[in-house]
Order: sequence, then structure tokens, then C-alpha cells
Amino acid sequence: MIQTVKGTRDLLPDVMPLWLRVETVAREAFRRYGFKEIRTPILEQTELFARGVGEATDIVHKEMYAFTDRNGDQLCLRPENTASVVRAYNQHKLYNDKTAGENTKLYYIGPMFRRERQQAGRYRQFYQIGAEVMGASDDPAIEAEVIEMLDWMLKELGINDTTLLINSVGDAALRGAYLETLRALLAPQLDKMCSDCHHRYETNALRVFDCKIESCQTVIATLPTITDSLDEASRTHFEQFKAHLDARGIAYRVNPRMVRGLDYYTRTAFEIVGASGLGAQNTVVGGGRYDGLSELIGGVPTKGFGFAFGLDRMVMALPDAEAERLRASDAPDVFIVFLGDAARQHSFRLAQQLRRAGLSVVLDFDERKMKKAMAQANKVQARYALIVGDNEIAQGTYGLKNLATSEQEMLGVEAITQRISESAKP
Ligand code: ATP
Ligand code: MG
Repeated sequence: MIQTVKGTRDLLPDVMPLWLRVETVAREAFRRYGFKEIRTPILEQTELFARGVGEATDIVHKEMYAFTDRNGDQLCLRPENTASVVRAYNQHKLYNDKTAGENTKLYYIGPMFRRERQQAGRYRQFYQIGAEVMGASDDPAIEAEVIEMLDWMLKELGINDTTLLINSVGDAALRGAYLETLRALLAPQLDKMCSDCHHRYETNALRVFDCKIESCQTVIATLPTITDSLDEASRTHFEQFKAHLDARGIAYRVNPRMVRGLDYYTRTAFEIVGASGLGAQNTVVGGGRYDGLSELIGGVPTKGFGFAFGLDRMVMALPDAEAERLRASDAPDVFIVFLGDAARQHSFRLAQQLRRAGLSVVLDFDERKMKKAMAQANKVQARYALIVGDNEIAQGTYGLKNLATSEQEMLGVEAITQRISESAKP
């Protein structure tokens, strides 16, 4: 049998209610905060990410599915979506859309591709939900508002055990001087560091902070942080950002060693980590400010702030009770049990009526004895069984049995619809 490609997986129906719940809550959050959806292609020019995300990043350097097309074009499966959204913003001149207001606020949901080492919470095709605020404004109030939206999402999903980590990585200009210091300090210790860190040292020394290898972390712990050498404007920005979070009652922790995996971040960077239910890969959300990304890919000068969360990990972070409730809510409303051939024919019409009234109805085509049919109703986890026989047809009322309580009553079609609709789903 041919199987899925390594690092990819089928999402089977039993987990889909969980995925849909996260998507629904996210869409509701985006509606409340004024974000509009955008869908960009999965296939993009490799150059978009080489320039946008940065050659020195793990994503571009090691993880991207890039190939030469039959006509020689350099293409790839998108490893992330911020660069694509910024490309679309420029390509379609979305900055001219006056209905968008002061900032263009976009969100996306879709698969991303990275050739990662396979482990729990890390896939080669994974899913992200993300949002981007693009425009001329770099007010830190926007950053706090976006984080407030994420905070609402997490609470709405019942995920209450995460921590918000924040940092400022300063401006590109400031980074130049800091990087020189960093390289000078790293040079004598390189022999203790991994081959990836050697590459990072050559291309963008700041990236070493991203290394997850313990021997490298020992070296990293001795390095001065970029936060210590922030310029005045970035420092003020960071202080204001924190004040906006405080004013919104959002708790956070400053982590001066968090630089995030992408080259394009400026000033504010953040992560949301630590939901129980996740293993070692416990970063759920990553985001930050990316002033200058637009210019990097040839677009108009634009300020930007955004985030992406891993849908796979968000689903894993759902509390067990919530996951259980969601699975149960996917069960059919009614299973029709018919007795006899006339009842079978009649049941087809009945099912049609109930479905048109909005109920989810299951009907098997094989006739079964009463006991077997009821067992089947329980197997498919229907909330009600509806019993249809010759007498019921004659009277126009049917036996509606609540399978959780075993209560049974005789009701007509309208009353059935009403009864089931008003009895709250689990
Ligand atoms: P990490 O440090 O875990 O590799 P990252 O910095 O590469 O994360 P981002 O590019 O910021 O992650 O992506 C944002 C979020 O997308 C992550 O916090 C995570 O939840 C999710 N994510 C990233 N890569 C994967 C993957 N391979 N499989 C599943 N989820 C992922
Ligand atoms: Mg990564």
C-alpha cells in the first residue's frame, strides 16, 4: 500500500471538529478585530522567501521545498505566509484601498511546507493561521491590540496555561554594530558550537540565539543580548508596548534572548509558549514587527506587524474535556429505525423532511430487526432514534427515543424538529 509522504499526515474525520473549532474561533476573532481574509498561492517564487525570510534562516537554508520548474523557473512550496501576504499587498496595491482604513489588516489559514526533522508537533506539511497589519503606522498600540486578540482566542478555546514572551530586537541599523560585537565574542568559542551555528556566524550571527542545541545554549547564555544595546527609539517603543499590554491586563515575560527564526523582524518580537498537551515543541504562536520587509522584496515602504500560530499545535493544546465535547458535537441528531418495507419507503421522505428542517439524519438502507437497529443507532452515537412502523405511518406520529436518557415519546414531524433543535447539543 502506498502511504503518506514522511512528515505529512491525513487529518481524519475524528479530529476535524477540533480543527474546525480552532478555525471558527480564529475567524470570529478576526471579524471582531477588523481583519479580512486573503488566500495566496502555495506555489511561489523561491526568491520571495530567499529575500523576504532571509538566506541565513533555517527556513530558507535548510527547510524549503524548492525546485527548478521544467521551464527553468525557481519555485518553492511556501514555508510561511507573511512574505506572500506582503507580496500580494504590493502586487495588488492594497495600500490604495481606502475602505481598509489606516492599516490593511489581513488574515490567512492554510498549509505551509518545511523539510523538518519529523517529531511530535513538527510536520513537513503543517498548518498556520496568521494575521498581518500593514501600513504607515508603527504605533505599539497595534501590537498590543493584536496580542489582545490572540489572548481572547486562547481563552475562548479554553487554553489557559500559556505564557506570552516578548522582546525587542531593535532596528536593522542598530543590529550592524551589535552583530560586530557578537561575532567578536563568538569567534573564539566557535569550536564549541554546532555546524548550523558556524553557518549562522557567517551569515547572520543573531540567529545563534535560535539554536536549540544545549552546548550552543551554554555559549549563548554568556552573550550580551540585543536588548541591552537598543537605540533610544526602539527602547521607547518597547516601553510603550509593555505599557499597552499592562493597560489591557495582559501578562507577559520579557525574554531578552528570544530573536525568532526570521530575518525580517524589527523591534517587537513575541511568542506564546507552554500549553500543556504539547511536548518539546511547545511554541504555539510566533510573531513580531517587520518594518522593511516590503522594501526587501521590492515593494513600497511599509510598516508591518503580524503573527502566525501553528494550527496543528493549537489543536494539540485544546484541553481534553473540550476535545471530548467537540468530538461529541459531531454526532448525528437522529438515526431512523424502520420496521417493514412500507416504513422503509416512508423513512426516505421523513429523512428528507428532517434534513430540510436542518437536522443531521442517518438512515441505513438495510432493514434490521428492532434490537439490531437500536444497537446501530448507539454505535453511530446518534442523539435520538426515530422509530417508524406501519402504525406510526398511519397515525403520523413517530417514536422519538433520547438515546442518552432512554426517554421515549410519540411526536409528529414538526414536534420532532422542535424537540431536537431545542435540546442543546452536548
Ligand atoms: P520553531 O522554533 O518551533 O521551529 P519557528 O520559529 O520556525 O518555530 P514560525 O516560523 O514562527 O516558527 O511559525 C509560527 C508557528 O508555526 C510556530 O510557533 C509553530 O506553532 C508553527 N510551526 C512552525 N513550524 C512547524 C512545523 N514544522 N510543524 C508544525 N507547526 C509548526
Ligand atoms: Mg522552525
